[in-house]
Amino acid sequence: MWRSAVDDPLDSIRFELAGITAEGRLRTRPLIDSPDGRLISLRADGKRLKLVNWASNDYLGMAGELVVANGARRALRTWGAGSGAARLLAGGLALHRRLELHLARFLGAEDSLLTTTGFQANLAALGALAGDPEDVLILDRLCHASTYDGARLAAGTLLRFAHNDVADLERNLERASSGRRRIVCVESIYSMDGDEAPLAAIRAACDRHGALLLVDEAHALGVVGPGGRGLCAETSVRADVRVGTCSKALGSQGGFIAASSAVVELCVNRGRAFIFSTAPVPAATGASLAALELLERQSDRPAKLLATAAGLRLALAAQGWTIPAGRSPIIPLLVGDEAAALDLAEKLRALGHHAPAIRPPTVAAGACRLRLTLTHAHRPVDLRRLLAALASVRLAEGTPQAQG
Ligand code: PMP
Repeated sequence: MWRSAVDDPLDSIRFELAGITAEGRLRTRPLIDSPDGRLISLRADGKRLKLVNWASNDYLGMAGELVVANGARRALRTWGAGSGAARLLAGGLALHRRLELHLARFLGAEDSLLTTTGFQANLAALGALAGDPEDVLILDRLCHASTYDGARLAAGTLLRFAHNDVADLERNLERASSGRRRIVCVESIYSMDGDEAPLAAIRAACDRHGALLLVDEAHALGVVGPGGRGLCAETSVRADVRVGTCSKALGSQGGFIAASSAVVELCVNRGRAFIFSTAPVPAATGASLAALELLERQSDRPAKLLATAAGLRLALAAQGWTIPAGRSPIIPLLVGDEAAALDLAEKLRALGHHAPAIRPPTVAAGACRLRLTLTHAHRPVDLRRLLAALASVRLAEGTPQAQG
């Protein structure tokens, strides 16, 4: 298209933003005070709202624990505010290594590698593992954006298979049979539906085709498995690589890759998102370490969370809400229509609950939902009030287009 020399290059950006606005999908950054696994204080329309928070990934309520905050304080006092450089330059603290070794021990892995975020853990792992154009990455269609971005940045080819469909995975493995390395990537518990991957069948398919298996356990660690060790541990499935994050069940920040020493060493040497990014701040690592130690001391926290989630799921189903099967503390209320999801979120907000609508592009059009996330920090009264609020919405409006 012809452009005049005086065209403002920002015009195309304004045009794009106008398009997002016209679709009703322009997002703004909420102003939140006191984030917490239980309560959220939010500024909206000049008012300050105190709401029960149903949108936190702080599954075990660790972010609000004094011992976790003290872990951050101790690390800040000892190591300073920032790590100052990437690990391979001057930012590699003994504290980082302590957390890596502790995570590896906890997960029964030979070693682990800490990254600044979980997003970067996937970028680093996939970039390192599929560093040759001959390599093939085969991702479940519902894998997280960080896995997809990792696959797109990697030199290897990206293939996808239908969600949790092992027969489709096999077809893709056959297609990829001439590659140097085949890496199958799945999540153990999926972030939007809270459903679980058939790990044993996926492992068997990988073994038949000599493929490596990477499992992103971001939503499973601290939640399922013995003492919160994840779905691989629970199902005794060996993953060649497990990716995790300190930002969910550990209530802090940072990501990690737990694997054999050889895989970890390759990620240290080839994982660009690890090599070229400043090491995590000491306070985050200190908090993660303290949270991990607390989880080991209170190893029944995950089971308690799952028991409460089971009760909430039953009560929601009894009210007639459509909830995908599962046991995770991620409980999606499927609403379908985008306007209905926004309307329901707005009504809940007016009744004191923060449960934002999840809509495209995060989920497919027509699969809009409210994604309730239960945490260890929620109290029985929060659950009672949520159920009362949802019941009153249904009563006032009839069934809000629940999909069957
Ligand atoms: N993997 C999955 C499955 C996730 O849901 C997320 C975070 N939403 C990440 C990785 C990234 O973790 P982090 O927030 O620590 O960057």
